[in-house]
Amino acid sequence: MNRVAVLGSTGSIGTSCLEVISAHPSEMVLAGITANTSWQRLGEQAASHSPRFAVVCDPATKPQVDRSLFGAATELLFGDDGLLKLVTHEETDVVVTGIVGAAGLRGTWAALESGKRVAVANKETLVVAGPLVMQLAESRGAEVIPVDSEHSAVFQAMQAGRQKEVRRVVLTSSGGPFRGLSAADLADVSPERALAHPTWQMGPKITIDSATMMNKALEVIEAKWLFGLEADQIEVVVHPQSIVHSMVEFVDGSVIAQLSPPDMKLPIQYALTYPHRAPSPTVSLDFTSRFSLDFEPPDLEAFPALLLGFEVARRGGTAGAVLNAANETAVERFLDGRLAFDDIPRLCRDILDHHDFDPSPQLGDLIQQDQRARQEAKLW
Ligand code: MG
Repeated sequence: MNRVAVLGSTGSIGTSCLEVISAHPSEMVLAGITANTSWQRLGEQAASHSPRFAVVCDPATKPQVDRSLFGAATELLFGDDGLLKLVTHEETDVVVTGIVGAAGLRGTWAALESGKRVAVANKETLVVAGPLVMQLAESRGAEVIPVDSEHSAVFQAMQAGRQKEVRRVVLTSSGGPFRGLSAADLADVSPERALAHPTWQMGPKITIDSATMMNKALEVIEAKWLFGLEADQIEVVVHPQSIVHSMVEFVDGSVIAQLSPPDMKLPIQYALTYPHRAPSPTVSLDFTSRFSLDFEPPDLEAFPALLLGFEVARRGGTAGAVLNAANETAVERFLDGRLAFDDIPRLCRDILDHHDFDPSPQLGDLIQQDQRARQEAKLW
């Protein structure tokens, strides 16, 4: 039995994860769920799935919480202590990190420290502290299994050869809602327009990242650390149908791809069942009707955020933490109507260029740089 803790269970990854667990009652059980402030939704989930623990992470929310919502089988916990208890508990085998932003780092770190399998759906953790996270996992015998659809595809394709036989990794991108628009068209895009994504239903932060293609930039950095690649071994190709989720080219020129209709339940499930596969609640590709798969190079002039991703993957050090923090703040300001759409990559570029670069930071240095970059991004 695989006992799964889902961090960020009320979000889009979290709710898909609960569906996957419910679809495999003889192989998986829900050990715990967490939410930052959405305690009503968390209470509903606890009542219907009966996890051992439910954690409300924001301690300021505690006085409002109605314990009777949670059901008798579930122990209700609060704050960092509650989160740490859940992820390090001896009855937790796998931790799924469905939390958005740098906030996902704490739970991931604690889970790896106690040697758990971590199904990483929080790409910011690897962007901010990739080398430290991977080192920690190795030293504790913990596993880091990607949930991001592209990285799950790469992880699956990697099983076809050995690490040293990999020539390059090709990450696919839907191109986001603004594929085909020019830099000039993108100057005055509204938050409402940027929030409508063509293929994936996701939270607001990642949807805006997808519109700027910063999401793909973060995924380039994520791929570098997850798979131990050089930045120039990673390419991005726009593939609007989102059916090929990414590809690995081996030294003999063979390209191995993973295909499926776009549904996050599949990569979530693979991270839970790996190295095995199980029947999944997702739909199959339908080859009885005609369809095509298109690939085109990304437009780097309209989507300069992508260049930042390659640059940061090349530089390493504090660059990932600074890019991520600047971007999180820029996205918040854009959603509040206080920053233009095309100022998001401009702000990130400026803060990245002017930060106090350190090539081999410790975790504390990264947290400090993260906070400094957020302050500067607020004032930019
Ligand atoms: Mg992705």
